[in-house]
Amino acid sequence: MEHYFGAHTIDTGGIHMAARRADNARMRALQIFTAIPKYYGDRVSIRTERVERFREVLAATRIAPERVVVHAAYVLNTATPDVAKWERARDGLAKELERSTKLGVGAVCFHPGAATDGDRDAAAARIAAAMTHALERVNGDTRLLVENTAGAGTTMGRTPAEVGAILRHIPARLRDRAGFGLDTCHLFASGYDLRESKEAVSRVLDTFEEATGEAPGFYHLNDSEGALASNKDRHRLIGDGAIGEQAFAWLLADPRTKGVPLILETPQLNVEIGEDDESPDPYDVRMMALLDRLSR
Ligand SMILES: [Zn+2]
Ligand SMILES: [Zn+2]
Repeated sequence: MEHYFGAHTIDTGGIHMAARRADNARMRALQIFTAIPKYYGDRVSIRTERVERFREVLAATRIAPERVVVHAAYVLNTATPDVAKWERARDGLAKELERSTKLGVGAVCFHPGAATDGDRDAAAARIAAAMTHALERVNGDTRLLVENTAGAGTTMGRTPAEVGAILRHIPARLRDRAGFGLDTCHLFASGYDLRESKEAVSRVLDTFEEATGEAPGFYHLNDSEGALASNKDRHRLIGDGAIGEQAFAWLLADPRTKGVPLILETPQLNVEIGEDDESPDPYDVRMMALLDRLSR
């Protein structure tokens, strides 16, 4: 098995342009948004021509559809005890899974939200209920993956036990289509020191695997602006943050990083890129070269 590196590339001009820019940076994985991430998107459908154009462009790249991840909207708080907000988040998640399934991508990742009343067990059950609702409504192969969070405030999904608790509430018949992924910046910000040793990095993966019964379905490869246990969700280029290059080399040496999308969500330089400009972002190109070196 191999490492499949990619990024959440800039989608100016459409998601098919994000795929072209990724391919031009020699990426083999990709992350996109299917709708504006600061809105619920609970009523946003995806037009057939947009689906067809994306699928057509993607087919001409090195990126297999199963290695495309859709990042769900940030505002979906499926953990909230507020019934009206929870229903909207649930519907937004289902609609996201619908759009993503039409695009034929491998997975949707989402931030599980915050247990604003402090009852984390009830919150885990609510997150799972929203996931179950989406998986029941939308048939297909696209998986729904919980992302670990930086642990600020009452956000859920900070520890292996919490991710495990969420997934345990998913009915057995749907369990294959659920899973989780890990963001290195969020791990570090929530207190996992990836700088200690290669063994320490693998132990972090072990604890998540023990709590969930599976290996991560994707990784977000981000360095961290904030210090260890700062709970700060601010991404930096790999090597420019508090984690440093070495920890990424150790992570990539673990076989559990092979065969799944490894996605950069690091700063990009050319954010004002033209709609028709398919050139890769210079920072993405630099990061791809670095990852190539770190994985050898
Ligand atoms: Zn995320
Ligand atoms: Zn983040």
